[in-house]
Amino acid sequence: MRYITEENLKVADSEVFEIIEAELKRQTNHLEMIASENFTSPAVMQAMGSVFTNKYAEGYPYKRYYGGCEQADKVEQLAIDRACKIFGCKFANVQPHSGSQANGAVYAALLKAGDKILGMDLSHGGHLTHGSKPSFSGQNYSAFYYGVELDGRINYDKVAEIAKIVQPKIIVCGASAYAREIDFKRFREIADSVNAILFADIAHIAGLVAAGEHQSPFPHAHVVTTTTHKTLRGPRGGMVMTDDEEIAKKINSAIFPGLQGGPLVHVIAAKAVAFKEILDPKWKDYAKQVKANAKVLGEVLVKRGYDIVSGGTDNHLVLVSFLNKPFSGKDADAALGDAGITVNKNTVPGETRSPFVTSGIRIGSPALTARGMKEKEFEFIANKICDVLDNIEDKELHKKINKELEELASNFVIYNSSTY
Ligand SMILES: *Cc1c(COP(=O)(O)O)cnc(C)c1O
Repeated sequence: MRYITEENLKVADSEVFEIIEAELKRQTNHLEMIASENFTSPAVMQAMGSVFTNKYAEGYPYKRYYGGCEQADKVEQLAIDRACKIFGCKFANVQPHSGSQANGAVYAALLKAGDKILGMDLSHGGHLTHGSKPSFSGQNYSAFYYGVELDGRINYDKVAEIAKIVQPKIIVCGASAYAREIDFKRFREIADSVNAILFADIAHIAGLVAAGEHQSPFPHAHVVTTTTHKTLRGPRGGMVMTDDEEIAKKINSAIFPGLQGGPLVHVIAAKAVAFKEILDPKWKDYAKQVKANAKVLGEVLVKRGYDIVSGGTDNHLVLVSFLNKPFSGKDADAALGDAGITVNKNTVPGETRSPFVTSGIRIGSPALTARGMKEKEFEFIANKICDVLDNIEDKELHKKINKELEELASNFVIYNSSTY
């Protein structure tokens, strides 16, 4: 690894080098509050930038279609073993290139084209891959949806009623924009009542689950997927887990040779490194802090007169609703961007605007918590967010706040080894 230095890229391709430098500056100076983003450690990035990118390793550890896989076998097996240890499950496939690929593998393994799936509506906080029409999941399968009530919460009795009518083969639980704990046990009861498979997609909350800071989908779900780059703070990628040997075999074939070719061994090596960080007792402190920070954020927003969907948060994010405000999620997103805070616009329950405009924003705490920020900083930032929203037209103020926040950010490096 010693020959990987910044000089290599600087000399070989100064254009790309400069772009990456500028991106580093952007990530350092801005406050990253997109709920699905995070900062990996230098160790994770080093593994990702390693010679494993050169290696073909189609197949699975110790059963490959290529020679020379001795080290690839070891590193993939290590990633698998660590994943199983973190989540307390029997089988893990660490090869999916992304969360969407992992979800595609679950459907491909367990469904035939046209089979019925029941997932959370995208506009209510679900993910594209939970049966949304523009996604393969809505095109290849017959998708039905449940959502949240006007109070922003899943009504489990209603989900049970919908399941009874639909009779889906798979029920998908898990979300991309839901601030409350997901009751996997209750979802399993609903799945059992209609003989459906329960598929839990914990892409957003996996880091909390890993720390015991959110109910685990095991032993309730038949199959579980996650991304590795959100609250897990690993490299960009996906993973599928199960306790069921039959399902595990089908998933393995669905991923390779079903959907993917050669695994990204460099990314798998980086997953293994991230998993080691998660197995460190310090991980629990990180996950607790992520929740504590999101809680403070929600409390300040409420105190300052903003509506939070469901009134608060149990996890790493808050959804702010502007249904009763004269501006949209898009306006808020742009104004906060000018002030140096990156969030994303989001639909809210009872949405009246288009998905491109929306009446809400989603704000998350994982990335800034990884930089070492705590309640004090989150209270400060939350008040700045309210200052921007209270004065959404005041571009001068946004600029001034941007300066103040840049100063705050400069005290918190993005590679904060003390929070691993
Ligand atoms: C982010 C996300 C995914 C997809 O992950 P990608 O790596 O972007 O494909 C899947 N499911 C949920 C719930 C997510 O939030």
